[in-house]
Amino acid sequence: MYNLDQFMAEVERRNPGQPEFIQASREVIESVIDVVNNNPKYLENKILDRIIEPDRVYEFKVEWEDDNHEIQVNRGYRVQFNNAIGPYKGGLRFAKNVTLGTLKFLGFEQIFKNSLTTLPMGGGKGGSDFDPIGKSDREILRFCRAFMTELQKYIGPDTDVPAGDLGVGGREIGYMYGQWRKIRNENTGVLTGKGQTWGGSLIRPEATGFGAMYFTNEVLKLNGDSFEGKRVSISGFGNVAWGSAMKASQLGAKVIAISGPDGYIVDEDGVGTPEKWDFMLQLRASNKNIVAPYAEKFGCKFVPGKKIWEVPVDIAFTCALQNELNGEDAKLLIKNGVKYAIEVSNMGCTPEAIAEFHKARIPFGPGKAVNAGGVATSGLEMTQNAQHIKWDAAEVDRNLHAIMKNIFEACVREGKEKDGYVNYVKGANIAGFKKVADAMCDQGF
Ligand code: GLU
Repeated sequence: MYNLDQFMAEVERRNPGQPEFIQASREVIESVIDVVNNNPKYLENKILDRIIEPDRVYEFKVEWEDDNHEIQVNRGYRVQFNNAIGPYKGGLRFAKNVTLGTLKFLGFEQIFKNSLTTLPMGGGKGGSDFDPIGKSDREILRFCRAFMTELQKYIGPDTDVPAGDLGVGGREIGYMYGQWRKIRNENTGVLTGKGQTWGGSLIRPEATGFGAMYFTNEVLKLNGDSFEGKRVSISGFGNVAWGSAMKASQLGAKVIAISGPDGYIVDEDGVGTPEKWDFMLQLRASNKNIVAPYAEKFGCKFVPGKKIWEVPVDIAFTCALQNELNGEDAKLLIKNGVKYAIEVSNMGCTPEAIAEFHKARIPFGPGKAVNAGGVATSGLEMTQNAQHIKWDAAEVDRNLHAIMKNIFEACVREGKEKDGYVNYVKGANIAGFKKVADAMCDQGF
């Protein structure tokens, strides 16, 4: 039998200095421990001891030259966490504060998220402490090439298929894919999120945001509600926030606030026109990491240095970073009448925030279920690459929609409590876990 505190004490001992990984693992283990303790097969197979340990971790040096012809050195990583149900799959994050612990937390989450998609994908994650902010296009190119020169030793279309994440979008995927093709002389879909003329899937750029809104729509329907007329806030202005703002608006909501590290903007007309959505993309592409220019361009309010969660809304969406919404933020949102809290970023809410939402019986959608549409569409990109065909947008969107509905239903099935309240955190963790655990048992140690 497993004991939660004992088990987690051991996880902490073995992973010093990795608080995000400890946080992510505690959440999953807490959710599944009863399922494991009640299943002799899982106990006999020591499933928790095995699932908590990455299969392997690569750490490598990335040397590149900046525009001043100075040599720069960064650290690159790829965490291959679990491939029981399919090739390792998960994004690459380029950000200054990336550590092995960050990527282990993301890789661990990815195992269960990918399992929830119903597609055959294992969990992995990678990235670098390279800071893209303020870098020129040529510097990004040189870094991406140097990074791929090392990474290509460890990946392959049936082994490990990376994609984008924070700091890695279409441009970076392009530069890395170009290097893969040159070194390997292979045009195989080893990365997803590729461009539309070279193997990318339609809807992939929008997929995380679209999928999040499809999931939210199901949550709303279950509560006899809809997007119509809802006032919503969306943190961030990157790819995920962009897709979310578009789909939320199309479904009838009004996106009244978006944010950046510099503060937030309030647009009472709603971030709801193609011009405004395009401007979000321009902001992201400018590499400055600030949202303030939106207020200037569209003549609305900019609140510097404050968190977006002080804006009263019906639905709050986290679309930026881990731990961006804490217990105090949750209390304030609840006090201001929030009806739904939806985590779109990976581990966007602290455990304290989630506890507040649960206590107030506010439906809370966890990132690993809500944002799974991104990686799911990556899976659809892999399918198209393997078949050497390209689906039209409607086909991809139909699949994405079906997958998100499936994930929602799995969460409800495993997470419904006695009073009818759905604990989506528990539901997502249990549903994602069972499939991987069963696969591990079937295949032996
Ligand atoms: N980085 C995204 C995630 O967190 C997408 C990963 C992928 O497409 O492989 O799920």
